[in-house]
Amino acid sequence: MLQRSSLRQPSRTADDCGADRGGLSYASMKLPTLLLLSWLLPQQVDPVSGQAGYRLSGPLTQGAVLFGETQPGASILLDGQPVMVDSEGRFLLGFGRDAEPQAVLEVTQPDGTRSRQTLSIARRDYAIERIDGLPPAKVTPPESVRQRIADDNAQVRRARALRELRNDFSNGFIWPAEGRISGVYGSQRVLNGQPRRPHYGIDIAAPTGSPVLAPAGGVVTLAHPDMYYSGGTLIVDHGHGLSSTFLHLDQIDVEVGQRVQQGEVIATIGATGRVTGPHLDWRMNWGKERVDPELLVPCRSRPARPCESKP
Ligand SMILES: [Zn+2]
Repeated sequence: MLQRSSLRQPSRTADDCGADRGGLSYASMKLPTLLLLSWLLPQQVDPVSGQAGYRLSGPLTQGAVLFGETQPGASILLDGQPVMVDSEGRFLLGFGRDAEPQAVLEVTQPDGTRSRQTLSIARRDYAIERIDGLPPAKVTPPESVRQRIADDNAQVRRARALRELRNDFSNGFIWPAEGRISGVYGSQRVLNGQPRRPHYGIDIAAPTGSPVLAPAGGVVTLAHPDMYYSGGTLIVDHGHGLSSTFLHLDQIDVEVGQRVQQGEVIATIGATGRVTGPHLDWRMNWGKERVDPELLVPCRSRPARPCESKP
């Protein structure tokens, strides 16, 4: 599935849970370690030589978040859109489920030196989930709730629009809950024969009342007890436009504006909204791009993707 090679890449796929992070568990490292390792280990992206003046770490695939470093004061465009760079030169790039095979990264250094590079984004194959025999109202919502759904969506969009130069992401991410993985990022859902939006979260099945931990530090930007589809819904912003959304919560233990630390209990798992049983649905966004949380945490085995044992 890696069908390109203008940049050197390992022969792995993003879906290959074990292989993907076996050698470079960047999610659990601090950024300086990460950047150091990005020089020592086989490169996922070539650290572009002197002239380009930036480094990237992370899998260059659909659904990925890449951690970057450049000179403080540099400006960066990804496909023509400005990317935040903090006072230490850190920045993030995120690629959605269906990201185009190529993205153009332009970096302008404080001294005016410019570079332009084409990044090749590996394509992933996503599962197709067919669910038949659902009551029609579960597949197509009744007219009476359309406005409520629109209001819910607007609140979520506003919460995810925050852009702050905090770097809460730089300590990496931990799993927010224990439990069996019952759904994964990107799968295409076909309900009663009708294609529906893909699933963008990772589902973790666990009993109602089980704790939800903050996977990284951040600031709470949305806490809603009962959205139509997602029930109890919580959003935590990790800085640079990277946020986590938690759905179907039973209880929410934090308030909008509150700072949370990695590992802190922020909510409990529930079965609120449109669900068939209690589980946590964890989603991540980089701005409007929906990215795959599973690429940011240590490998957790599931039947389709056992983790490889590390040497
Ligand atoms: Zn889900």
